Amino acid sequence: MKILVTGGTGYIGSHTVVELQQSGYEVVIADNLCNSNAGVLDGIARITGVRPAFEELDLTEGEKVRELFARHRDIGAVIHFAALKAVGESVQKPLEYYRNNLNSLMNVLASMRECGVKHLVFSSSCTVYGQADVLPVTEQTPRKPAESPYGNTKTMCEDILRDVAKVEQGMNLLALRYFNPIGAHPSACIGELPNGVPNNLIPYLTQTVAGIREQLSVFGDDYHTPDGSAIRDYIDVVDLARAHVVAIRRLMEGKNKANYEYFNIGTGNGLSVLELIRAFERATGEKVNYKIVGRRAGDIEQVWADTTLANRELGWKAEVPIEETLANAWKWQKHLME
Ligand code: NAD
Ligand code: UDP
Repeated sequence: MKILVTGGTGYIGSHTVVELQQSGYEVVIADNLCNSNAGVLDGIARITGVRPAFEELDLTEGEKVRELFARHRDIGAVIHFAALKAVGESVQKPLEYYRNNLNSLMNVLASMRECGVKHLVFSSSCTVYGQADVLPVTEQTPRKPAESPYGNTKTMCEDILRDVAKVEQGMNLLALRYFNPIGAHPSACIGELPNGVPNNLIPYLTQTVAGIREQLSVFGDDYHTPDGSAIRDYIDVVDLARAHVVAIRRLMEGKNKANYEYFNIGTGNGLSVLELIRAFERATGEKVNYKIVGRRAGDIEQVWADTTLANRELGWKAEVPIEETLANAWKWQKHLME
């Protein structure tokens, strides 16, 4: 069974391709390399022994997407990772974000319908919850208006899936709402490749420890949390990748309970920025040079997942201990500097 993985040379996509191939699936990746590079295919091949088929194309071009499906008539399911994902950039370039993220999904869905491909797993985000009134968040927690065009594309894409599922009864669409993916494959053959100065905590932290950045800024210590720093649910990228394999299996085995479903994919544990720094120091024996600065605009105070539904329905659970995740993130950073 062939799986089309859009955005498959990206951070989460590449880890998922590894897990898919190791579970016996054949993969074709479609990516325009706007935020990744083809060298990732070598990393995947080193881990799995199989180089996935690769199609370099821009998914916003409907005709190209149609041709892709025509070239691969045996595609049985799609995992749609491809998207632009920088929150700050999306505020500056809303049109680019709406165009890229919405058109890509719509083109993929249209080609799936044309070719009779039934199953799709979509990358959503806990950003759809905003600052929830009650924690942890369950799938029943109401979504809040998005804080950024990026966040809004996730909400809008979920709505597109819901509306399409209503009329395309033969299609099975499933959204995974990721919490904060971090870490790298334990082999250090693939990992996150941040472009320029990282926005996210872990790449900034590892680059600081590596001496590429001078000091990590901790954004805020005056939140209403036990140590004052913000709380997130950090999920190991390999655990997250495994969730896609079980989601695909659920759809292909017809075990889904509705033709549009969505699940929280996190650990169920909230960790503060300061706790994460301490866990990194414990895991690696390295010292993190940091200073406390003001809050970052647009940040929420705290969020973590209730993963009961994913645990029960997908039979999936986060397994990698946080120290191991952080040690792998550090191993990957060192590999990047070799
Ligand atoms: P990434 O940037 O590493 O991977 C995305 C890939 O999609 C890149 O390889 C990029 O080149 C490709 N792409 C983008 N637009 C494309 C287009 N029009 N045509 C073809 N390829 C295109 O990002 P990631 O962290 O692996 O994220 C994957 C998905 O998960 C995204 O949808 C993202 O919004 C979502 N997500 C990520 C996080 C996170 O913290 N990393 C959290 C929640 C949700
Ligand atoms: N953060 C920080 N310093 C940084 C980057 C992030 O203190 O250099 C904090 C940020 O304020 C948030 C947490 O780390 O509380 C996770 O941020 P990230 O950007 O990784 O993910 P987000 O939760 O914003 O999607």
